[in-house]
Amino acid sequence: MSDKVGFIGMGAIGRPMAAHVARAFETKVWNRTIERAASFAQEHGLRVAADPSELVSWADVIITCLPTSADVTAVAHGAAADWREGQLLVDATSGDPAEARELAAWLAARGVAFVDAPVSGGTTGAEAGNLTVMLGGEPPHVGRAETVVRPYSGKIRHVGPVGAGHALKAINNALLAVNIQAAGEGLAALVKLGVKGAVALEVINASSGYSNVSQNLIPERVLTRAWPRTFRLALLDKDVGVALKVLEDTGVPHDAISVAKQALGKARAVLGEEADHVELIKEIEKAAGVVIE
Ligand code: NDP
Repeated sequence: MSDKVGFIGMGAIGRPMAAHVARAFETKVWNRTIERAASFAQEHGLRVAADPSELVSWADVIITCLPTSADVTAVAHGAAADWREGQLLVDATSGDPAEARELAAWLAARGVAFVDAPVSGGTTGAEAGNLTVMLGGEPPHVGRAETVVRPYSGKIRHVGPVGAGHALKAINNALLAVNIQAAGEGLAALVKLGVKGAVALEVINASSGYSNVSQNLIPERVLTRAWPRTFRLALLDKDVGVALKVLEDTGVPHDAISVAKQALGKARAVLGEEADHVELIKEIEKAAGVVIE
């Protein structure tokens, strides 16, 4: 019989991921703001758990998709009496490797396995069911985790021991942040010189400076002035903070990533917790006195 899956976290990316899981497995969901879980469950014909304890008592495999590792640890500890031997926690949060290792040890003492399983591909990838998933854990647990994440995944890779998935995800997002900042600054200068944003991007995207930011994010969100809110800048700021810790712990220089962290921190203080990550470019435009169009 296949695992019963409990999904915790009905946020921007958790909702579409849970919808895919629910089509493949018997699924129950829980969310802190319970109305959000209830409306999602009604739409997809699912059951809602009243609290994490009920969900953990019911499920064989629990997937978490929360802002930070600290949130995941708090939820897991809140259901301390309900975990049982043989269960698996698959953490899809973009989390912190060291905190994940601590939680894995806490769960192991209860006979529960842990696999970190952060994702990339954004809400569009989650809706399409083709996210990239990076798994950190021990082989038998990773195999079981692969089965439950497959419904929302395009690429699944076992990248190392517990925490390795989180570390890789944090570095990926640090690269995203560096690209947003560098592309925003470069384009602002070019527009001030009279080059149209679309023309600059057409050339960059046929040259060596292209990235997902130049190919997709800026054309779709900045040039259009649409600024959709799909991935909070506050979460990217958190990810780059995790990346910096990874670099510090490994004794690697981190000049470029430190600069991106500073820019994100400043933008977060001005734009608030709900702003989208690409809105960092609004701050660059403001400082430069130009609109990238
Ligand atoms: P959102 O901010 O949209 O949603 C966060 C979810 O976590 C909400 O359901 C919220 O509940 C819940 N939550 C927040 N704090 C707590 C807490 N202390 N205890 C219990 N539940 C809590 O985030 P996303 O869905 O965008 O992101 C989730 C994770 O996925 C993050 O780690 C993010 O970095 C990562 N990610 C996001 C991507 C994206 O494109 N959005 C892409 C790739 C990774 P409530 O409804 O009550 O607020």
